[in-house]
Amino acid sequence: MNEKNLANSQLGALVYDPAPESASIARIKSSYGLFIDGAFTEASAHEHFVTLNPATEEVLATVSRASDADVDRAVRSARHAYEKVWSKTTGAERAKYLFRIARLIQERSRELAVVETLDNGKPIRESRDIDIPLAAAHFFYYAGWADKLDHAGYGASPQPLGVAGQIIPWNFPLLMAAWKLAPALAAGNTCVLKPAETTPLTALVLAEILEQAELPSGVVNIITGDGSTGAALVEHPGVDKIAFTGSTEVGRLIQQRVASSAKHLTLELGGKGANIVFEDAPIDEMIEGIIDGIFFNQGHVCCAGSRLLVQESIADEVLRRLVRRVEQLRVGDPMDKNTDVGAINSAAQLARIQELTAFGEREGATRYSSACTLPDKGYWFAPTVFADVAQSHRIAREEIFGPVLSVLTFRTPDEAVAKANNTNYGLACGVWSEKGSRTLWVAERLRAGVIWANTYNRFDPASPFGGVRESGFGREGGRQGLEAYLNV
Ligand code: ADP
Repeated sequence: MNEKNLANSQLGALVYDPAPESASIARIKSSYGLFIDGAFTEASAHEHFVTLNPATEEVLATVSRASDADVDRAVRSARHAYEKVWSKTTGAERAKYLFRIARLIQERSRELAVVETLDNGKPIRESRDIDIPLAAAHFFYYAGWADKLDHAGYGASPQPLGVAGQIIPWNFPLLMAAWKLAPALAAGNTCVLKPAETTPLTALVLAEILEQAELPSGVVNIITGDGSTGAALVEHPGVDKIAFTGSTEVGRLIQQRVASSAKHLTLELGGKGANIVFEDAPIDEMIEGIIDGIFFNQGHVCCAGSRLLVQESIADEVLRRLVRRVEQLRVGDPMDKNTDVGAINSAAQLARIQELTAFGEREGATRYSSACTLPDKGYWFAPTVFADVAQSHRIAREEIFGPVLSVLTFRTPDEAVAKANNTNYGLACGVWSEKGSRTLWVAERLRAGVIWANTYNRFDPASPFGGVRESGFGREGGRQGLEAYLNV
């Protein structure tokens, strides 16, 4: 340990020597076409955009922008594949392809993790240990269902919907692709997937994997582009189902667009999750759970525990320990295996976080931001905790989608429930208590799709995930996730 490290460690902040993963593992190409009908093709209007590394602002690759004509090509290809091939393929046969895709994701997991971290800015530790293994796990899980649909609880011989248009966000790019594609394919649908404009690369590596798996042409088409490409997919008359994960504003727009059609729709939108901690909760685990609940993936998590509701009797101690823990988070190079908090995904997202946190201060909340040194280049935001937050504050009501925690207090379980439910969202909540009966009492009264007890941000392909109210409808994962892709 050198002198600087020693000095820092005496201040309570552990400093590690750099442990960078190698970027060369990513093998990113300089440009990518659209994956339509089983092959990469040039966009018809020859329009392109670049995708950046948000940690350095360097260009990673040039990507094609799919026009309305390209969306039409992709949907036609998916329709053709549905009618001629996939709807005639047995469940056992479909399962073989899904298993193959899962195995190939595992084989190329290191490459995928590096590509994800470069394109998204999330710590390599998270893409390596969470995003990529979970993406493979989803394909394994739904491979198991493909030949057992008769036993899924939707009657004998449930039928697929047809062509699914799937639009995904930038916070978990490959994982969201897996959440969408695996159940759709298992149920016998064909797909047109549109990744987010700032994180298209792992979906394009996945396209290579689909080629490697010899998935029949047109069963999955992957088209890159921005909101206009997504809108064209939503509008296309050849699409039977739209599955969207993203912001509540865009979700609302899509819901209006789809309302006048016969299209099926599932929406997984924003959240303002309450993490409720009672005075009897085991404090060390709880502090780690609160930290993980909000700072995992830079807080770019729709189910993030962004509102901490802490019982008044332990509020001072919890706040003191949280502020200390936040100082210890290692912020910086996402490619470093010791990094806890990486880069903000885009300049636009950083601007939104800055706007809302400035508002928090103006509205009278007390701000504690980590004194960490932020890199000069790239998009960065120091992990931040706001105390003295009132329910009326914007930082308690609006989704910040960044490393920012708002702390509120309560006295009784009734008050905790009332405050937790005082939101238009309803995606996820956490409850921390030693007392099982209290946890169940609270959980029964929370209006949220997912409730964790004495943990947070736990995901498993067998467990359904989704929201209520302005957080959307429909479930992904588990047996319930099949319902979104079956005519039930
Ligand atoms: P965020 O605000 O977090 O970037 P968005 O909801 O804007 O989230 O984006 C999520 C996904 O929705 C992205 O793939 C984006 O390109 C797509 N998208 C944006 N606008 C539209 C739209 N009007 N119709 C369909 N898809 C859209």
